[in-house]
Amino acid sequence: MYVHGCKCWFCGNYGLSRLADKRVWCSAWRRKYSLSKLKRDLNVLYYFYLEVSARECANELSLSYNAVAARYAAYRKAIVKYSEQEFKKLRGLVEADESYFGGKRKGNRGRGAFNKQAVFGILERDGRVYTAVVDNVSAATLFEHIKQKTRKGSVFYTDDFKSYKDLKQYGKHNKVKHSKTFGKAHNHINGIEGFWSYAKERFHKYHGINKKNYLPYVKEMEFRFNHRNEPLYPLLVNTTRQFAPKIN
Ligand SMILES: [Zn+2]
Repeated sequence: MYVHGCKCWFCGNYGLSRLADKRVWCSAWRRKYSLSKLKRDLNVLYYFYLEVSARECANELSLSYNAVAARYAAYRKAIVKYSEQEFKKLRGLVEADESYFGGKRKGNRGRGAFNKQAVFGILERDGRVYTAVVDNVSAATLFEHIKQKTRKGSVFYTDDFKSYKDLKQYGKHNKVKHSKTFGKAHNHINGIEGFWSYAKERFHKYHGINKKNYLPYVKEMEFRFNHRNEPLYPLLVNTTRQFAPKIN
């Protein structure tokens, strides 16, 4: 028996059949799923989109916290995959900077601070940001990302941290001295610093993230920032459908 007018949510094929257990069967995709559970999952995704915590979402929808937390984790994984897929090398005027997430103690400009996670960021002016969770902030580590993620010959802006000393091998290098930028309007790293504020404001809500799990959260911030001027919910729906479909 066909479910009339019903298109498969996953593959777009028309002509789903309804099974005795009320699930639907897609003959093109050769899988079955429950439409009511799909609807519930899209509700969970909507709360994720609104940046409501897994705990509050579980309360609102009368679901178990573990079920919601598992879906949130799956959405973040999907975001990581989507971001890899859509990535294009950054080019033109590019700002690079490192920052630290988590931990309570303030370190010396955050560098080498205890119990914090180093994150490297590269931002194309008027474009996108790329982030990487890094084990250290040595020149070798940071340059590997620069090499992989930026076009050679870009114009780089960084502060005067020692790891950036030989950056000119990848393009023109402008060092920004925080105290001496007056009168040089282009010579700044305000773009990437703006991203750090954006990300940390959100990160703040996720207290108690295990340090080992920072990557998906940081990538979520990157994704939200890069798509901040677009309708985000439909994009999240497509990303989830592609990379984290929930069948049951
Ligand atoms: Zn299908």
